[in-house]
Amino acid sequence: KARFVERNATSLKLHAEAAKSLPGGNTRSLLHTAPFPVFLKSGTGYQVLSEDGNTYTDLVGEMTAALYGHSHPLIQSALISTIQHTGLNLGGNTHHESRHAALLCSRFDLSLIRFTNSGTEANLHALAGAKRFTGKRKVVVFTGAYHGACYMFPADSPAENVVDREDWIIAEYNDVEDARKKIEESGDVAAVLVEGMQGGGPCIVGTHEFLHQIQTSAKKVGAVFILDEVMTSRLAPGGLQELEGLNPDLTTMGKYLGGGMSFGVFGGREDIMRLYDPRDKSALIHSGTFNNNTLSMVAGYAGLSQVYLPEVSREFNKMGDKLREKLQELSQGTKMAVTGRGTIIGIHFLKDGKKDIKSYRDKKDDSELRELFWYEMLADGFWITRRVSIALILGTPWEELERFASCVEAFLKRHEGLVK
Ligand code: PMP
Repeated sequence: KARFVERNATSLKLHAEAAKSLPGGNTRSLLHTAPFPVFLKSGTGYQVLSEDGNTYTDLVGEMTAALYGHSHPLIQSALISTIQHTGLNLGGNTHHESRHAALLCSRFDLSLIRFTNSGTEANLHALAGAKRFTGKRKVVVFTGAYHGACYMFPADSPAENVVDREDWIIAEYNDVEDARKKIEESGDVAAVLVEGMQGGGPCIVGTHEFLHQIQTSAKKVGAVFILDEVMTSRLAPGGLQELEGLNPDLTTMGKYLGGGMSFGVFGGREDIMRLYDPRDKSALIHSGTFNNNTLSMVAGYAGLSQVYLPEVSREFNKMGDKLREKLQELSQGTKMAVTGRGTIIGIHFLKDGKKDIKSYRDKKDDSELRELFWYEMLADGFWITRRVSIALILGTPWEELERFASCVEAFLKRHEGLVK
């Protein structure tokens, strides 16, 4: 810790400055780290540079949104050209939005979609659509779920800032029978909203059986099955839906699909999405000044049409699997557990060493060990979230990921007494 303060003296000053106008110097709770956060100055490719002059290999990957890395040349040139020749937000329809929409529909097998500014909003509007479509009110979600800034379900009750608190029914993640019962027997269920892998876990993988059971139960009672792919859409060319053979009624996405700009999208079945058709007088209204801003549309399209092609997605996620397997090997006989799929990986330190993590509740987190890991990985030059999750960036050399694995191995050896 002493070394951390010494290495990040400029950040300490900047944090004190920031705290004068932002509570705790912070405007994204997840980014706060004690004793103070490291301030970043810039990013290039798979690296970020701190205000203290330290370069890090970026394993945060902006929680999956920075898939293309920092300032990808193709996306950068699409943005510059748009700024120079088009404008930022024109206040009218443009072909940029329809072009990106058509690509997203074909890639993720969706009939109709609408754009938003964030994943949170995508879920908000998908839920509004589901409630109108079914004429019902309740929504089944799962313990440990994160569906956005006002949709957090850390335990048995919604987080304090969750909207419409009485509308939620919370079932146990990966518990087939509990999910079946709550969906089929609660009555008044408009939607079932689920992540195929819970990002906040970090990275608790939904089993194939569980995901298919809730899809079946939702369809059986006429509830809208909404798959939140805000994080998982990068795991295969057609998202986790393709990997698991799921057929959601609606899908919500965001993150990298805006090419690194603010972005969200929801859509799916034509009969549900038609509720938003403004040619119909009773249509649901969905507004948002920046929904079709040209920069998000152009950056998202450039990335998905020119960079993250289906074959690239497959190869990239294979690299993630390889890293996860390597880390899993290293973790044998220790309190460390490794979860995730493809390019999204979670590292856990567990007090009881029980590694079969099927739900948030299974985790007896050793937070001191986790914190120590975080400090030491930073010192080794890896930018990583405190909780500890990894979202790989395209173009990160495999040798650098091997170096990360070696540093993890050295950490486990150095603290043998603590990790066994
Ligand atoms: N759903 C999931 C599964 C997410 O991981 C996130 C963001 N981490 C969101 C929704 C919300 O997206 P945004 O931060 O763009 O509002």
